[in-house]
Amino acid sequence: MTQLPSIVRRHPTPISDELFASAQRVTPGGVNSPVRAFSAVGGHPVLMAKAQGPYLTDVDGNEYVDLVGAWGPALLGHAHPAVIDAVREAASAGLSFGTATPGEVALAHLITDRVAPVEMFRFVSSGTEATMSAIRLARGATGRNKIIKFAGCYHGHVDALLASAGSGVATLGLPDSAGVTADQTADTIVLPYNDLPAVAAAFAADPDIACVITEAAAANMGVVPPQPGFNAGLAELCQRNGALFISDEVMTGFRVSEAGWFGLDGVTPDLMTFGKVMGGGLPAAGFGGRADVMSQLAPLGPVYQAGTLSGNPIAMAAGRAALENAVPSVYAHLNELASHLGDAVSDALATAGVEHVLQRAGNLFSIMWGVAEPVTDYAQASQQETWRFAAFFSEMLDAGVYLPPSAYEAWFLSNAHDDQAMDRVLAALPQAARAAALATDPASAT
Ligand SMILES: *Cc1c(COP(=O)(O)O)cnc(C)c1O
Repeated sequence: MTQLPSIVRRHPTPISDELFASAQRVTPGGVNSPVRAFSAVGGHPVLMAKAQGPYLTDVDGNEYVDLVGAWGPALLGHAHPAVIDAVREAASAGLSFGTATPGEVALAHLITDRVAPVEMFRFVSSGTEATMSAIRLARGATGRNKIIKFAGCYHGHVDALLASAGSGVATLGLPDSAGVTADQTADTIVLPYNDLPAVAAAFAADPDIACVITEAAAANMGVVPPQPGFNAGLAELCQRNGALFISDEVMTGFRVSEAGWFGLDGVTPDLMTFGKVMGGGLPAAGFGGRADVMSQLAPLGPVYQAGTLSGNPIAMAAGRAALENAVPSVYAHLNELASHLGDAVSDALATAGVEHVLQRAGNLFSIMWGVAEPVTDYAQASQQETWRFAAFFSEMLDAGVYLPPSAYEAWFLSNAHDDQAMDRVLAALPQAARAAALATDPASAT
């Protein structure tokens, strides 16, 4: 791991520091999902006690404007009253029944009404489960084995999808994680994002491809939008070759528009995966698509898929309240905020002399640090000067702004971000930009 300067904070966090030390004794790295550990930005994480509207409050009482939004779910802001009320009401009727319930019927209809290609839907509890199940379904429905994914696209920690390879050439997937066997990724073909000819060549070379899975707009290698025609080209190549097109909207779904990325580009996938926003902050995710394909799932068909807590009534109530309140004015507000903030960050960096590119996909954006040209794939994204972001992150945190602790993550806004919250972010930018300009590459230090 690269050694990064540790953060010296204006607002001390003694309780948080002690809790984190305690966490490290009982939990690997002190966290339950790796990026939370701040290893990409240095210092150590802040333990949060409370989330309200656009703010997080840490266990020491320091308040931050939150630009992580629970990694996507908090579209309406934290602890939205309608969502909290729905959860309270559902909880008082019992926590989990292990049967079909009215809440899951209602939420499934909300989703199928909003996203036209989703004719049938099945609930699971995480985005990882959704993509894993969609791929099993695609293989079962086509009777084929191989899958195509794109380098830099994240689809959860599914064994077969933890392959990224990375070189610009079509290559059979090599595992990205210890514990994933070569066999588990042997049927995964990893191609460069935004490279349709590579996909066409893979289909021409191999008749055994069950599906192509892609993020609807890539936002886990930093934000890298699909080039015009890329998603449509994938859909067409899949159709022509008898494979299924899976659009992973776990991040973009119900965030970039009422109908997610589909609502922006109108490309019809065979299957789609969702999570994050649709759970309203509770563990709910799912996958859906063509009725004839979805009907291959048990109990109608031979593809097995199940879950003890799938369609959990409290999660369904939260998701339903969240989607019912995710109305057009919310998206208009988010688009405006994202446009304004993206420009402001870019201006501050330009003023400080930091080379960068602002990348946008709908209301998602991120900065590519130390890069001169717009980034279209993972090979380019991984050229970033991430240590500049580390310095920027640290200054912003110190000024009371909680950014995603990695340069490879999108910045998340919410409908609750008002002028007061935005002003704090804007005020912090010039100094953070200067820190980024002054930062030096720790790898080049001796
Ligand atoms: C977050 C994410 C996932 C994984 O979802 P989890 O709920 O974390 O398992 C899958 N795909 C995309 C595009 C994501 O952003």
